[in-house]
Amino acid sequence: MTNSKSEIVKIGLDLGVNYAETWNCYRGKDTPCGVCPSCVERRTAFAALKISDPAAERMRD
Ligand SMILES: [Zn+2]
Repeated sequence: MTNSKSEIVKIGLDLGVNYAETWNCYRGKDTPCGVCPSCVERRTAFAALKISDPAAERMRD
């Protein structure tokens, strides 16, 4: 199964994107909400790559 979103994340990592500071949350807050479609897609992408999301710490609150 192809996960294009995870491929995009992987390319970003290769380019040195700081994912702790980069996300696209529909709620537009200072931290990822973790529940909107964009956040869920992102979390799924990181899980598919078997790496931890650097912004996950922020999502806990
Ligand atoms: Zn969100």
